[in-house]
Amino acid sequence: MIAAPLMDFGMNFVIAAVLGLLLGSFASLAAHRLPRGETLTTGRSHCPQCGHALGMADLVPLFSYLLSRGKCRHCHAAIPARYPLIEIGAALACVLAVAVAGPGLQAALLGLLAVGLVILTAVDLEHQIIPDGVSLALAVLGLGYQALTGNSPQAWALAGAGALAGFTIAWLLRFMFLRLKGREALGFGDVKFFAVAGLWTGIMGLADFMLISGLAGILFAAVWRWRGGDAVFPFGPALAFGLYSAVLLAAAGAPQPLSLLMMR
Ligand SMILES: [Zn+2]
Repeated sequence: MIAAPLMDFGMNFVIAAVLGLLLGSFASLAAHRLPRGETLTTGRSHCPQCGHALGMADLVPLFSYLLSRGKCRHCHAAIPARYPLIEIGAALACVLAVAVAGPGLQAALLGLLAVGLVILTAVDLEHQIIPDGVSLALAVLGLGYQALTGNSPQAWALAGAGALAGFTIAWLLRFMFLRLKGREALGFGDVKFFAVAGLWTGIMGLADFMLISGLAGILFAAVWRWRGGDAVFPFGPALAFGLYSAVLLAAAGAPQPLSLLMMR
């Protein structure tokens, strides 16, 4: 039977996608409540327009949105498209995690990284801040990831050097922008996030992270301007995309630019 392993293989992706949708739904809630100082565990969600408490039928990720055609079932106010987009993004990230790492603890940690990054992206787009709580949670998660995948003195040294280098480079960039342009192109939240990113990628993967973030940033900035966004462009979404890509590339065993340079 060839079909059975193939079906197991497909099932893993279905499970990853469903878990991703649920995690994405949680990420929407967290991105809405964390900056407002509200708790994640208590209180039911309400429609922001009519205040109607949302029931089970409204809270099935993606499908509630599709079935109600993107409108509140009670007052018919439009539900912002970012909710299903966040859920689809998280589902895609979880499917990629399983595709790269296979089902297991490593994929689970990657999925949690994705949730943190999705929350960070949503909060930065709305409030132009990267919350310390999210960076801190991702730092702790990064230590867990290093313990699982590396956990040798050498791996810990590379991770530590990555965090230090990430922080230093971002701090210098921030200083340069402030000096040259007289404005805060890189907030201090971004600087702290660079340290967290370095911890995840290690110093060898830091170049991947910065390269992909930089390219994504140029692309996002163009879309931001085209859509009539104001002068302050949030860099968080590009950083989130860059970090997840760099970590997935490393997990897939892709050669890293810095290690290639050093081998010569
Ligand atoms: Zn409503």
